[in-house]
Amino acid sequence: MLLTYQYKLNPTPEQVVILETWGELLRHHWNYALEERLDWLRRTRSQIDRCSLVSEPIGEIPDKADYYTQATDLKRTKELFPDYKNIYADCQQQNLMRLDKAWKRWLIPDKFGKRGGRPRFKKRGDISSFTWPRVNSPKAGAHLIGNILKLSKIGEIEVILHRSIPDGFEIKQATISSKADGWYCSFSLEHKTVPDAKSIDKINSATGIDVGLEKFLTTADGQSIEVPQYYRKAQATLARRQRHLARKTKGSKNYQKLANKVARLHLHVARQRKEFHYHVSHWLINSYDLIVFENLNIRGLARTRLAKSILDVSWGAFLQIMQAVAVKRGKLTLGVDPRGTSINCSSCGERVEKTLAIRVHSCSCGLIIDRDWNSALNLLKRGSVGLPIPGCGGLRDTQPMKQQVSYVNLRCSRYIACN
Ligand SMILES: [Zn+2]
Repeated sequence: MLLTYQYKLNPTPEQVVILETWGELLRHHWNYALEERLDWLRRTRSQIDRCSLVSEPIGEIPDKADYYTQATDLKRTKELFPDYKNIYADCQQQNLMRLDKAWKRWLIPDKFGKRGGRPRFKKRGDISSFTWPRVNSPKAGAHLIGNILKLSKIGEIEVILHRSIPDGFEIKQATISSKADGWYCSFSLEHKTVPDAKSIDKINSATGIDVGLEKFLTTADGQSIEVPQYYRKAQATLARRQRHLARKTKGSKNYQKLANKVARLHLHVARQRKEFHYHVSHWLINSYDLIVFENLNIRGLARTRLAKSILDVSWGAFLQIMQAVAVKRGKLTLGVDPRGTSINCSSCGERVEKTLAIRVHSCSCGLIIDRDWNSALNLLKRGSVGLPIPGCGGLRDTQPMKQQVSYVNLRCSRYIACN
């Protein structure tokens, strides 16, 4: 099992200067290496519908540049530019590896036929993270002893260990990165074992979750959690600061100060959101053994008019966190096709056409419930086919067909307790 723990660092001003210089040097190197690759590409290709006379290479065709040739050239770079001798060698290789990855993502389609964009030339400040691929091993460049992180070529940096490294985990790599409010170190931790997932016949409780804009999610029991609108609340402040920012001279001291304030606010909102996602995930995982969710086309939805709200709730990030929490706690999750889940009746299966504005599902069979609740029941039905769970898939026989409750909004009590 892999985990990532992030800690704040307390570097000295001299160490910050070193880190920033490294960023600049690696950025120059990235740009050089990218140009080398692009140059090779331009000189060896002619478009299919062009006369080769137009784009015939001039001069000697350079050798193909790939990770290996570029990594071999590092030695020469250090001879020509002695500053590069001050950077830990593995960090330079990691820099080239990142470029290689971006390059391949651009040229080679993945199994879905999708490719990434062309790798970009980096502007000042774009490279602000460095990876030490080995930690605490004899040949490693990084050692964590107590709350001191010893980095080769930089020295000892104090780590604010707000929680200890979990028992039995080995630190695989360390990445130092800069954020608006300081420098951080992320450790990748590995434990050889993987927690056993619950076997299917041991599932005692299951639920479906329907995510929406009105409510963050609704479970198949009819419980719902409200959308925390951090971003919208922070918007007024953000807009004010951005207005001030526009009046400052770009690049001036005051501009930089204010730009940092804006960046911090964004960081704050992102952290609030993440915390909320973890709270909800833990609440769900504590309550159920199996959680069925809908596979959404979030990118498609985010292009519509609802974009801000959709990005605000960011279900994609939530679903990822929820699945990670489930793996860690040995519970199960399942994504199902959401087509028709909001239209079909969860009790009789009949189609009940409704627009987005209609919030209540009212079927001729007598079932009248909240539309999100109906979807959640449908999702559960779809995901729990063949499972030995009592009461799965709509209402039980013992329950009255006509459900008087049309809108249930129980806020999850644990979440309030956590606050
Ligand atoms: Zn019905």
